[in-house]
Amino acid sequence: MDLASPAAVRRLTEQYQFKFRKSLGQNFLVDANIISKIIAAAQIGSRDTIVEIGPGLGAMTKAMAKKAGKVLAIEVDKNLLPILKETLQDHDNVEVIHEDALKVDFDDLVNQNAGYQKGYEYPSGYKIVANLPYYITTPLIMHVLERHSKFSVIIVMVQEEVARRMVARPGSKDCGALSIAINFYSRPEVVCKVSKNVFVPRPEVGSAVVKMVRRDKPPVNIGDQKIFFALVRAAFGQRRKTLLNALSGSSFELSKEQWKSIINEAGLDPSARGETFGIEEFAALARCCEKRSGSSCIS
Ligand code: SAM
Repeated sequence: MDLASPAAVRRLTEQYQFKFRKSLGQNFLVDANIISKIIAAAQIGSRDTIVEIGPGLGAMTKAMAKKAGKVLAIEVDKNLLPILKETLQDHDNVEVIHEDALKVDFDDLVNQNAGYQKGYEYPSGYKIVANLPYYITTPLIMHVLERHSKFSVIIVMVQEEVARRMVARPGSKDCGALSIAINFYSRPEVVCKVSKNVFVPRPEVGSAVVKMVRRDKPPVNIGDQKIFFALVRAAFGQRRKTLLNALSGSSFELSKEQWKSIINEAGLDPSARGETFGIEEFAALARCCEKRSGSSCIS
């Protein structure tokens, strides 16, 4: 039976008396065409190790297992484990890990699991593929990016509105701290939009698939990374304030006078809103901030 179908979802959920948990973002994909598009975007080959977050009933997992060297699928809901045992029984290259993905170090996981396949070479970079539970989209992406995980590409299905923020250019109304972080570490693009009709149960909003290809090297020298991201968060946390006021009211241990001088030295306008700046401007600010006060300025 085709797992990516409403009939399969009905059969499995009834047989195992599975109760959907909205709190875990459980909207299962029932369109094989969308799964094919995601797999094509990930360019999965037999040497690839895939980390999947939230396999659900295993529809995408099974399709990826047919092409990949190894699939490591992290699922938090223990009620899905017996179902996954059945749906993935023909694929010995799949490992289901019962964990909260936010607590997993993906590099370690790949290290421990991927190298043991017979005739399999250790991967230079694994691929993260997921139809993400919406409630963890931002923390999960930040969890992966901030750890400089050794991924080569991330392909995720997210809410359409979040997809717009992920690929937003600096200065646009959708740009936020998440956009800056994603653009710093990767080159993001929207692969396709996805109708809410291809999920069971049907979510309230549409989705989109976003592909993030890791950058070989950072686009700009940002100095101390902790300072850079603290500045970005401070500027976007108070997006209606001027840069000077947003930074003066932030958790940095610097006075308004000190900020004025740092912003001037970075060649920026203290009365502009922080949300209008891009990676280069934040990088200049971070370098000046570090030069003046070192990393001890973050409380
Ligand atoms: N991949 C399946 C599909 O496309 O049909 C299911 C996608 S569903 C949107 C999200 C899945 O993530 C669910 O199976 C849910 O139980 C799981 N999940 C939710 N929170 C999680 C977490 N913190 N760690 C791992 N899995 C999680």
